[in-house]
Amino acid sequence: MFTEISSNVFESGVRFSAGGSQKSQIFAAGLCCSVASVSKQRHPHKTAAIESTRVAHIKTSGKFYVGLFPMQFKEVIGQQVLKKELPELMKENRLAHAILFLGKEGSGALALALAFAQYIVCERISRPLAVAAGPSLFGDEIPAPQPDALSYDSCGTCPSCIKAAAFAHPDIHFSYPVVTKKTGTPPISTDYITEWREFLKSYPYGNAYDWLQFIGAENKQGNITAQECNDIIKKLNLKSFESEYKVLVMWLPEYLGNEGNKLLKLIEEPPPNTVFLFVAENESQILATILSRVQLIKVPLLEDKEIETALTGLNRAAPEAAARIAAVSQGNYHMALQMIQHADEDWQELLRDWLNAIMKTGPVAQSKWVDEISKLGREKQKQFLQYFNHLLQLALKMQVMEQAGEGHPEKDRDFAARFNKITGMEQQEAIIAELDNAAYYIERNANSKMLFMALTIKIYHIIKDKIVFLSE
Ligand SMILES: [Zn+2]
Repeated sequence: MFTEISSNVFESGVRFSAGGSQKSQIFAAGLCCSVASVSKQRHPHKTAAIESTRVAHIKTSGKFYVGLFPMQFKEVIGQQVLKKELPELMKENRLAHAILFLGKEGSGALALALAFAQYIVCERISRPLAVAAGPSLFGDEIPAPQPDALSYDSCGTCPSCIKAAAFAHPDIHFSYPVVTKKTGTPPISTDYITEWREFLKSYPYGNAYDWLQFIGAENKQGNITAQECNDIIKKLNLKSFESEYKVLVMWLPEYLGNEGNKLLKLIEEPPPNTVFLFVAENESQILATILSRVQLIKVPLLEDKEIETALTGLNRAAPEAAARIAAVSQGNYHMALQMIQHADEDWQELLRDWLNAIMKTGPVAQSKWVDEISKLGREKQKQFLQYFNHLLQLALKMQVMEQAGEGHPEKDRDFAARFNKITGMEQQEAIIAELDNAAYYIERNANSKMLFMALTIKIYHIIKDKIVFLSE
């Protein structure tokens, strides 16, 4: 129990002894260097989607994961400023024909681009604008606003919207990283269109890793191939089928190598009424030649409150769990969704056991604890580290300003306050750095037993050094 630590260690500062554990700790410290050895084993998610209305329940590792698939702006989480600016760009004819939505994981850049694609093809929006603007929406003339065009969202009910919402509108094309399906045949995105539609309905806030696991890529790197670029050129040179406009949504142009230069001419001088919507996370990994030809739209991280509302509303999470998770998810709805699956986990109890083992009960308890966490699996291990990290950040803030804890659950504040009694800022920062490091290696499939054993030793030393220092 953490309260026991409080009486034995927090008050005396120097009382606990680690004498007997030193040998095994030094032994275990020798394993630190092995942490980076990355196993090649991966666990592709076996995913089955069961849809109900507009909420998809995805079974992942035996647990239900609930997400929403947005195709109207009103269904995209947060991003109020962009939801207003994007329609205005279009209505005021200030829209470039190539746009880059740049947003970190979990910000909803893809969701926004999907909603915008639907907005562009929605008959209630695009027809009146097209009439007002003449032959090209993207020309120089400013169209007179039409009544229906004043709407800030697609209608959601016209035939175009219905097809767009099923990711099956013939004038909305998708391009995304894929892996080889048949040896010897370079893959193109359409090879995976069925999986892609299912993925968007299930994981609109998913990342590249989720997608590649979803299509069973295992260790293969995704790629947007030269053949895919040829396919895009072919598709966009056709006349549009139903809509006034043709839209290409390219997710993760980071996966486009030099073959992406094939697209430059098309991006520069596209056929009439053609819009490119690129959606990226990392600006530095995009071809400079493409970057220089797009209108950049930065998609900010979400506010805690927006994540909290989405969790309670869309995912029917309990309000307290939603608030707690929103506070630690760093504006990343992808992370929040993963954490909500484990909202019933009591990370604090696991953390208390760990700290007790580190500081009080010694090597036997430590290896028992390490065995226990090793069985949890990577996602949970990462969440646990994230939770500890969050408490440390809270402790740091509370050292500077006591009121900083306001709004956080009482047991978190209580924990942070106690932790502040045994560690100073420098130590907390050192532990945070170790936790970040550990999370990095967990993501790369490090051996979790070795990793957590090494982390145990490191934290022991970080905390103990302070205690030695205090006793001098
Ligand atoms: Zn519509």
